[in-house]
Amino acid sequence: MLIFPLINDISRKIIHIDMDAFFAAIEVRDNPSLRGKPVIIARDPRQSGGRGVVSTCSYEAREFGVHSAMSSKEAYERCPQGIFISGHYDKYLKVGQELREIFFRYTDLVEPMSIDEAYLDVTENKLGISSAVKIAKLIQYDIWNELKLTASAGVSYNKFLAKIASDMEKPCGLTLIRPDDAASILSELPIEKFYGVGKKSVERLHGMGVFKGSDLLEIPEMTLIDKFGRFGFDLYRKARGISNSPVKTHRIRKSVGKERTYGKLLYRLEDVNKELSSLAQRVAVSLDKHGKVGRTIVIKVRYADFTTLTKRRTLDFPTADQEEILRISEEIFDSLGETNKGVRLLGITLTNLEDKVGE
Ligand SMILES: [Mg+2]
Repeated sequence: MLIFPLINDISRKIIHIDMDAFFAAIEVRDNPSLRGKPVIIARDPRQSGGRGVVSTCSYEAREFGVHSAMSSKEAYERCPQGIFISGHYDKYLKVGQELREIFFRYTDLVEPMSIDEAYLDVTENKLGISSAVKIAKLIQYDIWNELKLTASAGVSYNKFLAKIASDMEKPCGLTLIRPDDAASILSELPIEKFYGVGKKSVERLHGMGVFKGSDLLEIPEMTLIDKFGRFGFDLYRKARGISNSPVKTHRIRKSVGKERTYGKLLYRLEDVNKELSSLAQRVAVSLDKHGKVGRTIVIKVRYADFTTLTKRRTLDFPTADQEEILRISEEIFDSLGETNKGVRLLGITLTNLEDKVGE
């Protein structure tokens, strides 16, 4: 049997910074009368006919069960006193750039994950500070001092654990996971909190009796690789606190896409349209999060016989609008002219991305 060595690099110092309720916090900062209120960044469903999704909301709104990616209609039902604000993305982009400038004072090894989230490798840093916790505190202080916003920070020896750490205490948290602490934290961590494990994989892992990190330790490496491929290989290691992927700089996002594989093939057009609708929503949320709009919409379809088609359409104006993405996706799907072949996979991707401005 093949045995892959377990190499755990604990020599690095990685910080994950995640802004607290970023878009909502900027709105509150610039309009103090909103402070302490449930602020929801989404078009007001009473004016948009219930269309649109929540991109961010304040912690006060979260107490009502509102969260990002929720339809604004549902957000309104849960929190009718919520204050709905259409995003001011040009402003958020500018703040995002100011945030990056703060990071670059400490290190050039910055990997932005979205407008309000980044990994920093501070093993070697511009200030020659040996404590990554101290750097994280300085960054939080700079962010508060200069931007009047708060961030949560996670510090560890790899990106995977730093990300988990930043999520452990929010808002304004600073959490350190040391090599010796990783095993006990991971063993209690619900599997859906393992960063990179998608919804589908969570379901499959639950089916295997895996609900938290300690359950994952019981599954042999080969079983995980058989079931999940490369992802299983990584998961076996992550369960043991091992993840050696480097902080990658200059990550320029070229496309935003979502796809889904269906265990039960889709035959009816209404089922296809329902799935396209959920993909369009997820793509719109993701575009929003990255502050992007796209000009080209690409539809991917895989049929029962595994033939795979992609078809694209380029628009006159870039969009991030869920309804528009859905409408065009449906039109492209219709134009494929295949009706009852059975659909195994659907995907929607936007490319030709531009920074979102205005609104
Ligand atoms: Mg955030």
